[in-house]
Amino acid sequence: MSGLLPRLLAGLLAMGLGALAGFIVGAELGALIGALSGGLLGFAGIVVFDALRGWRLMRWLRGAHEGVAPRDSGFWGELAYRIERSLRALEREAEVERTHLAQFVSAMQASPNGVLLLDANDQIEWCNARAADHFGLDPERDRRQRVTNLIRSPAFVEYLQAGNFDEPIAVREPRGHGSLQVLMRRYGAGAKLVISQDMTERERSEAMRRDFVANVSHEIRTPLTVLSGFLETMRNLPLTEVEQKRVITLMTQQAERMANLVGDLLTLAQLEGSPRPAADKWVRVAALFGQVEAEARALSAGRHTIAFAGAGDAQVAGIESELQSAIGNLVSNAVRYTPDGGRIDVAWRRVDNGSGEIVVTDSGRGIAREHLSRLTERFYRVDGSRSRESGGTGLGLAIVKHVIQRHGGELDVASEVGKGSTFRLVLPAARVRSAAKTAAPTLDEPADVGVR
Ligand code: ADP
Repeated sequence: MSGLLPRLLAGLLAMGLGALAGFIVGAELGALIGALSGGLLGFAGIVVFDALRGWRLMRWLRGAHEGVAPRDSGFWGELAYRIERSLRALEREAEVERTHLAQFVSAMQASPNGVLLLDANDQIEWCNARAADHFGLDPERDRRQRVTNLIRSPAFVEYLQAGNFDEPIAVREPRGHGSLQVLMRRYGAGAKLVISQDMTERERSEAMRRDFVANVSHEIRTPLTVLSGFLETMRNLPLTEVEQKRVITLMTQQAERMANLVGDLLTLAQLEGSPRPAADKWVRVAALFGQVEAEARALSAGRHTIAFAGAGDAQVAGIESELQSAIGNLVSNAVRYTPDGGRIDVAWRRVDNGSGEIVVTDSGRGIAREHLSRLTERFYRVDGSRSRESGGTGLGLAIVKHVIQRHGGELDVASEVGKGSTFRLVLPAARVRSAAKTAAPTLDEPADVGVR
């Protein structure tokens, strides 16, 4: 209303002025006609002026509302200002909604599960990249397509049509690579949310677990069967003292085999369950070598030439018992798989990039190339009977790999059949130092800081 009064007054003033001008100019034609036409002209002027301002506002409204609305005074100015303010508020609200939607969509995209939205007619509304990958869909091209035309798995189609979504179902991936678990939920007016989860990895680890349990049972049952066989023999047959001694020796071997197996299983379980070793507990390589050397010489009983070298004042950071068990396993393998008269070398080496490695080389039977990548699998043996005969559990290298990986390093194997094998335990630079440099600390070099 505030804009109308001034405009009415302006109109009347224009009319009055027009009428006065008409009255003066039109004195000869007739003062009344002059005043009337003058008044009309004045009014028309105001109308044209108004229409011009209205047209400018309309042009701004029809456009993309860029820049500010026409800044006129009075009625049109206020109208433009208020329209612009409402428009900007709506735009801000829409922007907030757009941001929320974009965040929601990114969250759906980040989901580790596939998310597929179907409308009431089972047409695809939207799907995230994971669902597209699971079902072989194209998120853009397949929008508004009927889902059963694209996902043809009978289990999926039946699940959708039956409409009972209490339990998830298993569906094979369309490209046949693995299996999916699919769950549906209803929402809104007949729409459906489809959630898919890749089960391939879980099924693989489940199969590995089953294999592991089967292997453990088998490994324990074999010596148990032998033991109970011997016990049966001792109970039913009168044995001479010599025979009894032989049977007891064999029984002891089987019992030791079981004890070794259980020991290795416990070691693996402990390794899996404990946190990564800290990098500030330093162990002397020479001490590790000393303990392992004694065990190796006892196992070899003089059948091999064994040499340990290079430990010097080197130190490695980690858990002493674990590192000793890793080196011990490699050296005991070297002894067990190297024929009598062979040679076994164990050495510590610094590498140019600051890391360090423990290298166990033997002149034994060697390992064919096709076995190398599988050596660290649990219970994987190249020659099963030889491994068991020599007291192997099939878990040694699995333990070694676990230990070295927990220490941030890696196990590397090179071997040639008939020539021997080289196993390298590589430790990262951060876990390697030389004790000589730390023995006499200076002001700039604190004692507990390793110098590589
Ligand atoms: P095992 O207890 O059977 O020795 P490991 O995990 O220690 O189990 O080793 C796995 C397999 O790798 C062994 O069964 C053996 O066939 C092979 N192997 C390991 N070390 C050597 C080696 N130094 N020379 C030849 N073969 C080896």
